[in-house]
Amino acid sequence: MEKVNILGVKVDMVTIPEAADKIMEFLNEEGMHEVYTPNSEIIMVAYKDAEFADILNRASLLTADGIGVVYASRILKKPIKERAAGYDIACKVLEKINYTDHSLFLFGGKPGIAEIAEKNLKAKYPGLKIAGTRNGYFKPEDEPEIVKQINESGADLIFVCLGAPKQEKWIDAHKDELNAKVAMGIGGSLDVFAGTAERAPEFFCKTGLEWFYRLCKEPWRAGRMAQLPVFGATVIAKGRKFKQD
Ligand code: UDP
Repeated sequence: MEKVNILGVKVDMVTIPEAADKIMEFLNEEGMHEVYTPNSEIIMVAYKDAEFADILNRASLLTADGIGVVYASRILKKPIKERAAGYDIACKVLEKINYTDHSLFLFGGKPGIAEIAEKNLKAKYPGLKIAGTRNGYFKPEDEPEIVKQINESGADLIFVCLGAPKQEKWIDAHKDELNAKVAMGIGGSLDVFAGTAERAPEFFCKTGLEWFYRLCKEPWRAGRMAQLPVFGATVIAKGRKFKQD
């Protein structure tokens, strides 16, 4: 897969359907595969934290979540065709594993959210096998029990929804103990499946204005979002210093 190096983070230049196909391949291969979908905020975290950049670069699949990352790829003359957000990839994968033997574990969100998401997903995908659920609030000493619960469920796909960068760090720390084939870090997606959070209407997503919609709906995100212009400026100033393959 071709990659674009954005400030030291090597993002796969894949579309949503290509990402979903790749995940289906991973489900039929041996070993654990990590799938992360960094946005510009997360790439800025990695830019300042080499250890976290390594976690992202070790992933089996890294897709561009957010219009900022897509613009950055254009600035670097390796344009990614479309934004491939975790939620959209997850929906495509759900369609593909419906009525198959693959089973899914829902990990993350506030207590009760994963169970509502399970109910809604089962209504939407009647042939979907959900092997188990676990909320995303735990102490470090609970982690072995969580890994055990996921392994005993027999799930081969895990949606890890702890928010970034927590979910990427959690997956990386436990990947060798997990028996599943794929762990996807997909942020607030369980809240969307549960209906407690809404996605931006398609118009905002298609026109690259989802950030604006979210800012209006969730103004407390303003601090985090202030990273977007910093990201753009850093890509313009420093982006070309990172070697492209
Ligand atoms: N979350 C969690 N455990 C934590 C912190 C957060 O399960 O310790 C969940 C939180 O309930 C929410 C999701 O992680 O469902 C983060 O959502 P957000 O939209 O903030 O993440 P993003 O998609 O922006 O990374």
